[in-house]
Amino acid sequence: MPFKKKVKYIFVTGGVVSSLGKGITASSIGLLLKLRGYSVTIQKFDPYINVDPGTMNPFQHGEVYVTDDGAETDLDLGHYERFLDVDMSRANNTTTGQVYYEVISRERRGDFLGATVQVIPHITDEIKRRMKFLGETGKYDIIITEIGGTVGDIESLPFIEAMRQIMLEMGRKNAISIHVTLVPYISSAGEMKTKPTQHSVKNLLELGIQPNVLVCRSENKLSKDIREKIALFTNVPKDAVISAHDCNTIYEVPIVLYEQELDRIILERIKLPDINVHLDDWRVFVEKIKNPISEVRIAVCGKYVENKDAYKSISEAFIHSGAENDVRVKADFISAEDVEDKGAEKLLKNYDGLLIPGGFGERGIEGKILAIKYARENKIPFFGICLGMQCAVIEYARNVCDIKKANSAEFTKKNSFNVIHIMPEQIKVKQKGASMRLGAYPCILKKKSKALDAYKKPKISERHRHRFEVNNKFRDVLEKNGMVISGLSPDEKLVEMIEIEDHPWFVGCQFHPELKSRATNAHPLFREFIKAANEYSQRKNSN
Ligand code: GLN
Repeated sequence: MPFKKKVKYIFVTGGVVSSLGKGITASSIGLLLKLRGYSVTIQKFDPYINVDPGTMNPFQHGEVYVTDDGAETDLDLGHYERFLDVDMSRANNTTTGQVYYEVISRERRGDFLGATVQVIPHITDEIKRRMKFLGETGKYDIIITEIGGTVGDIESLPFIEAMRQIMLEMGRKNAISIHVTLVPYISSAGEMKTKPTQHSVKNLLELGIQPNVLVCRSENKLSKDIREKIALFTNVPKDAVISAHDCNTIYEVPIVLYEQELDRIILERIKLPDINVHLDDWRVFVEKIKNPISEVRIAVCGKYVENKDAYKSISEAFIHSGAENDVRVKADFISAEDVEDKGAEKLLKNYDGLLIPGGFGERGIEGKILAIKYARENKIPFFGICLGMQCAVIEYARNVCDIKKANSAEFTKKNSFNVIHIMPEQIKVKQKGASMRLGAYPCILKKKSKALDAYKKPKISERHRHRFEVNNKFRDVLEKNGMVISGLSPDEKLVEMIEIEDHPWFVGCQFHPELKSRATNAHPLFREFIKAANEYSQRKNSN
């Protein structure tokens, strides 16, 4: 019989409040175990009823993170990929919606004939199947499972119950629980308070789970006394009460956890050998973030500026590419509608680069186009992503090719000057969920282009999420007027990248490069954009 290795399961739950950084904790633990040579993946279980976050408003939910295989997933998967430098897939994100969808479809097929279909065991069995699925592929030594929401929420109960059953089945050496809680500092009392953590652990105990490790989020480092007190009240050994105090950057968290030997403690609990960790590259990366040589200012001009999570991967890609260029990227999110009202020069004149991100709908479009015109004419580095590239094409058509009515079919349906039109395969699509052009597609880069200079290879693969594209009818006129089509699908039917020759760095792409930028491996287009912005800033300062 072939050797079947025992996969180890680490569950990460959260207590007290949401937004504690469970995703960063799971990613940091994953990184430390990976750097010890283990093969690790992380999966997220989200309690909401939506099948995926694809139809949610980015204001509410933040960015939709797209994987290579075209799944629209929670933004925590972005953290997992950025920290681990490993590709995630559809199997790494499950929602309550998916679980019920599956169980109800099976009920309709007659799979449960005769039975009453119930939360326990039918829903919990489907959750367990999904929790174990990646572990059964034989690819991983360790599966980290993050449970979304906060312990005590009604909607996360079936996930916690499934986790309890798995921990019982697998046994203590193979499955452990890490609970992330909050230890607030109450300034009027002048002390840190452990009570919310005690209550949160009680909550978990009521559900049948004794946490093995507590990761305590706090403003300042937890004292030995506080750790001991928490340990006493929660049955957690005191070396496993970890202080996860605020850091300058999320990328410092793995180092803070490492210094408290969290990874060693985990390995000891799950009985895996304590192989040496190689943290040097990571430390260099964190040092570069903390001690940059200079600063560049980038304007990100979009629609969802009130919720920065809507552009999470872009913000992170700036950190990665800043570190590679030894600069701090100071990104300001500017409302495209404000550019319409106040004019591009007033809002953009102090920036070293302009990025127009992806987006949907007409609001703010004219502001984005004004901003692009300003960057193009003033030779300010410009990076257009998805809708940002489409706007750059509209701007070029209007102001350089003199097609005054140039627009996108997303905004003007009956217009024979739609330089951006709907993709043919999208015309008949009625359903909104998971129906865009999604996931990784190949792209061929033009010789002697800024795109090729950045990637240093002619064939690339990037992730997409769109319904509209450059209308091929206008390719000739755009090219005749100096726009370079620098990236095409292999059949040459789809424009994937554009640029302008007579400009320090003006590049647009139909795909989302921010989704493939990794902590210690910045995306080439972001790296080059920030490099160009830094050069622009130096030129400006020397004049
Ligand atoms: N709304 C545009 C489209 O569907 C751009 C999408 C995006 O920026 N992700 O093509």
